[in-house]
Amino acid sequence: MKEIENAKAYWSSRGYDVTKVKVNIRGSTPFSKPVIGFQVNDTVTVYRDKAEEYGVNLDVAIAHEIGHYLGFRHYDSSHAIMRGAATQLRGMKL
Ligand SMILES: [Zn+2]
Repeated sequence: MKEIENAKAYWSSRGYDVTKVKVNIRGSTPFSKPVIGFQVNDTVTVYRDKAEEYGVNLDVAIAHEIGHYLGFRHYDSSHAIMRGAATQLRGMKL
């Protein structure tokens, strides 16, 4: 999937090893709160419906969750995609 490749390329082009990351894209979220995705160990899950609802490009949402896998936390100053609120990722491009 192009979005997954784009998201992995964002990090690999910056020298990070993301070859072991597994990415799940789900159609609809079970959460009522504004959660676009989450990361557990080497697996990231992103909800397509929430990404669309908040106007966040899917590759940005995936790259954000991969950033958590790499240990980045919200508001890491060197990576705008690690901002914590969906509204701050709206319309962003990798
Ligand atoms: Zn996050």
